[in-house]
Amino acid sequence: MKLVSDSSLCSTTCPYCGVGCGVQVSGSEQNFTVAGDASHPANAGRLCVKGTALAETLGDEGRLLSPVLNGREVSWDKALDDLVARLSNTLVARGSDAVALYLSGQLLTEDYYVANKLMKGFLGSANVDTNSRLCMASAVAGYKRAFGEDVVPCNYDDLELCDLLLFIGSNAAWTHPVLYQRAIASRRQNPNKQFVVIDTRRTATCDEADLFLQIKPGSDGYLFGGLLKFLVDAGAADKRYLQAHVEGQTEALMAVSGLSVAVVAQFTGLPEEILQRFYRLFQANERVVSFYSQGINQSATGTDKCNAIINCHLVTGRLGRPGCGPFSITGQPNAMGGREVGGLANQLAAHMDFDAESIDRVQRFWQAPAMAKTPGYKAVDMFQRAADGEIDFLWIMATNPAVSLPASATVRRALERCEYVVVSDCTTATETARYADLLLPAMPWGEKDGTVTNSERMISRQRAFRSPRGAARADWEVVTDVAARLGFSSAFPYRKPADIFREHSALSGYENEGGRIFNISDFAEITDQQYDELRPARWPTRLSDDRPFSAGEFPTPSGKARMVAVRPELPQLAADPDEQADLPRLTLNTGRFRDQWHTMTRTGLVPRLSQHRDFLRACFNPSDAEQLGLIPGELVTLDNTEGKWTGLVEIDGGIAPGACFAPIHWSAPFSGAGKVSDLIASVTDPVSGQPESKIATVRPRALSTQAWAHVISESPFAHAPPNFSYWSTIAIDGGWLTLVSTMSSPEKLHADLLAHFTAEPVASYTDGSANLYFSTADFEGSTAAIYVAPRRNDLPSKTAISQFFNTDHSNPMRALNPGADAYEDNGPLICSCHDVGANSIISAIKSGVNSVSDLGIALRCGTECGSCIPELKQLLKTGSK
Ligand code: SF4
Repeated sequence: MKLVSDSSLCSTTCPYCGVGCGVQVSGSEQNFTVAGDASHPANAGRLCVKGTALAETLGDEGRLLSPVLNGREVSWDKALDDLVARLSNTLVARGSDAVALYLSGQLLTEDYYVANKLMKGFLGSANVDTNSRLCMASAVAGYKRAFGEDVVPCNYDDLELCDLLLFIGSNAAWTHPVLYQRAIASRRQNPNKQFVVIDTRRTATCDEADLFLQIKPGSDGYLFGGLLKFLVDAGAADKRYLQAHVEGQTEALMAVSGLSVAVVAQFTGLPEEILQRFYRLFQANERVVSFYSQGINQSATGTDKCNAIINCHLVTGRLGRPGCGPFSITGQPNAMGGREVGGLANQLAAHMDFDAESIDRVQRFWQAPAMAKTPGYKAVDMFQRAADGEIDFLWIMATNPAVSLPASATVRRALERCEYVVVSDCTTATETARYADLLLPAMPWGEKDGTVTNSERMISRQRAFRSPRGAARADWEVVTDVAARLGFSSAFPYRKPADIFREHSALSGYENEGGRIFNISDFAEITDQQYDELRPARWPTRLSDDRPFSAGEFPTPSGKARMVAVRPELPQLAADPDEQADLPRLTLNTGRFRDQWHTMTRTGLVPRLSQHRDFLRACFNPSDAEQLGLIPGELVTLDNTEGKWTGLVEIDGGIAPGACFAPIHWSAPFSGAGKVSDLIASVTDPVSGQPESKIATVRPRALSTQAWAHVISESPFAHAPPNFSYWSTIAIDGGWLTLVSTMSSPEKLHADLLAHFTAEPVASYTDGSANLYFSTADFEGSTAAIYVAPRRNDLPSKTAISQFFNTDHSNPMRALNPGADAYEDNGPLICSCHDVGANSIISAIKSGVNSVSDLGIALRCGTECGSCIPELKQLLKTGSK
């Protein structure tokens, strides 16, 4: 491993989303600089705002630096002896079905490969699943049903080459920004290119849309079933392609025979003329890409929806050629690598399944003594089994299921009930870590070394550029040590990631006479140096044209692709047993904010990434908000039979009436009652096992509280007691800002907060008539401040309060009232790269600036990563009013 020094650059890969952007890191410890890698084919130098802030996430705050067994730091030897003893005892006492591994799309391919091999070849069970189950399992199942193998048929350049680009269930402008920007930029070469956005919400992705279809939640299957019927009725089917390369069309067409435009209009809520326009656009454009993501996958009928989309491409022969195809985009950086090694419980390894021939082949290749013969438990099922007492040993790597899985009460019960829970992570600040019997310190981005595969099958190196902190070790190395302690050292001889990559590559080509498209055996003999220097490479590497299915041959028994008979269904939302409750219900949609990633364990530490959307909130349509008495910036609770959630109210005209939206990012370290998975039932797709995480019915209620507080502290103030109605904390320059609200009086809230401080107040200010209570006091070794008021608007503004750490604390009144000086309030941060707030942008617009490029000249906003451009355009539309 070569670490970065002042004079060298390290080319690596962004650890966030499935775009897999190339990143170059320079500098040295304490002062790394991150830039886009201009030579990487995925991004050609571009990064989104999360990528540009990567260097700011390299702090060691909250790092797990040593193994911790039952709350006490121990050596690695003691930790692994204990792990192996408990694992062996479980295997003897209850068999391999009582053991499970839960992995993650954040793991590197080498980590994934070794964990999968140990479980499926040497422990005798396939109970190894991954959080990628929550992200794209339905896309995998859809591809396998249609093509016979989990092969993404598109490359990123298809987004540029197409004439019609459909964004389906994807806010790509925020979730896959670099791909969105690539697609937008390609319009300059192809001015006739058209964008269609299909979503339940009007999002930033609609900014460039020629057509926006705001469909009813979960009705995508009807939309694409109707499209299939329309295409055939209109004579747009490619009969030659169908005859030569496709089967199942008769059944598929029969399944949609009732889906006239009028019927589709009824189910989707779309006007017939809009449907006609969309259908004609699809018919008219040979080069069409359907870009889909979690809005399609996270559904109880997600696999069917994927096949409904794929059917439309098959019937028109629009795949396997430049500029067309059904393109599932993964959410996670290495979901695809996990798919390659077989990290899902229903896959065996290297794109092989649990058929007798594949089991035998893999067993011989691995020389495995205890091959799993059947699929294991998928994620939701795995945790349900653990909650039911069927799993005694659970090893969780690089993921936070206590927050990300639905039915979080069941997940908590599983983690409590399971006899032995091992958590490998680089931080202790996750809800899951609280349940661990054994915590194992893992390496984060920058320390770990291996490969990842992005959404277009591009394998890239994720390289280490700094030394591991404390006793952190690579996950593959830990699993290898466990295998050796179990007596399997000869089958796990790995000394470095390259050893594993060569074996993984060799397995992909083992007895592969073309039956499996995933074949990277060209890499099976590469040297360590070639591995170190590996340039991004897209599989299949053996084909001369690397766009799969270009010859119209598919890895099915007949060699033909399969159209699947899809009978669409709307979501079956749980009935509310509280028949008497005379409260309106809204349909909850969940998703991401622009500047946050997953459960914020990394992005939540960066002040500028907390400014775009600061405290926890949910978004409502203006008319619903008015009807429900919801006030922007005040509190709302959402509840249903699963649980309860509390956050601030934001009004968003992009939300359809009858719907609302809440983000997936918040959990216990950052908020109270803010975990959206508390509202999601464990309904799963019967084919893929992917949970329906996008949809729930909730009852919203305005929550009127008596007191609000800001707490400013150098260390996170995440100690608010449960009787507080709401708290949410964000990183600010120098420390943390926590917003608290309760039903008790301001005086009582002030006293309750002071109880968490370690000494008497250094200074206090009380205005009894206005009910204002300000104090500074010591909190964990440094001066912190509490501001309490009856209304949120009476608190010093966030911008003013952020000056606290620059304030002379020897002057208590100055420290207590930083808002006394006139600080310019920038409003919500729009451009995170250049720190430009909404208020500055609006005043520039009011002074006559009237285009994105002129805003860039005046304020620099929108000139770096481009993620804020949709919001700049929105402000240009509305800002001068
Ligand atoms: Fe990272 Fe952003 Fe690229 Fe995704 S789009 S890989 S988050 S830089």
